[in-house]
Amino acid sequence: MSELEFHQVAFESARAGINYLAFIHSPKTGETACVDAGDAGTIKKALADKGWTLTHLWITHHHPDHVEGLEEVKAATGCTVIGPKEQSQPIAGLDVLVKEGDSFEIGGHKVKVLQTPGHTLDMVNYYIPSSKTVFTGDTLFSLGCGRIFEGTPEMMWDSLCKLAALPADTTVYSSHEYTEGSAKFALTVDPANTALQTRARRVFALRAEGKPTVPSMLSEELATNPFLRASDPAMRAHLGMSEASDAEVFAEIRKRKDNF
Ligand SMILES: [Zn+2]
Repeated sequence: MSELEFHQVAFESARAGINYLAFIHSPKTGETACVDAGDAGTIKKALADKGWTLTHLWITHHHPDHVEGLEEVKAATGCTVIGPKEQSQPIAGLDVLVKEGDSFEIGGHKVKVLQTPGHTLDMVNYYIPSSKTVFTGDTLFSLGCGRIFEGTPEMMWDSLCKLAALPADTTVYSSHEYTEGSAKFALTVDPANTALQTRARRVFALRAEGKPTVPSMLSEELATNPFLRASDPAMRAHLGMSEASDAEVFAEIRKRKDNF
C-alpha cells in the first residue's frame, strides 16, 4: 500500500479570515480528495499546480466558507461528494451521506468518519488511521476550537474528547489560521504552562513571517490547547474551578474566548 500525499492551500474569506483546504492524493490510484470546498478557484488552481485530478470532496459542515464552491468544483471535475448524513441545513450536491462509524477508502487507505457536533450539529471529521491524519473542520483548531453556534458546550466537549482520544502522534489539519489570536487567549487562561509559552513564541514567529501554523500534532494540542485541557489541575486552579466538572471548565474557557 503506497503512502498518501497531503497538500494544503489557503484562501481568504470575507467573514472567516484565512481558510485552509487540505488535499489527499494517492499516487497509486490517482485518486485525489479535497476537504471542503469553500473556494472553487483555489481548489482548481491547487489541482493544476499539482497535476492532480479531483475525484472526491469530503465535506465537514454546511457553513458557506466550507461549501460555497462545491457545485462549481463538482461540475468542473465530476467528483463524488461525501458529506454529513445528519444535516442541520441542507447541503446541495452531496452524493454519499456519512455518519459516525462509517468508513470509506482512498488509495486503499481506510478513512473513518467521526461526528463532532458543537460548532454545528452536522459536523463530521475524517480520520485516516494508516497515516495518523485527521481533518477536524471547525471543531478542533491549532490552540483553539470552533465557536459553538448550534450545539451545547457539553456536546462540543464530548466531540473534542473524541478527537483527543486519537493517537497522540496524529497530524491535525484544521480549517482556519486563527492560531495567533488563540495563543494570546490561551496564555490568559493557562499562564503557567511552559509548553504553551514556548509554542506561542513559535506561533508568533511563524505568523510574523506569514507562514502557516496548520497542521499541528495532536500531542502539541494536548499539551497546550486550553480547550483540550479542562482536566488540568493548574489551569483549573488558575480559573478558580478546581471542583467543577471538565465540561464546566471547558464551557467557561469557551465563554471567555467568545468575549476575548
Ligand atoms: Zn464553520
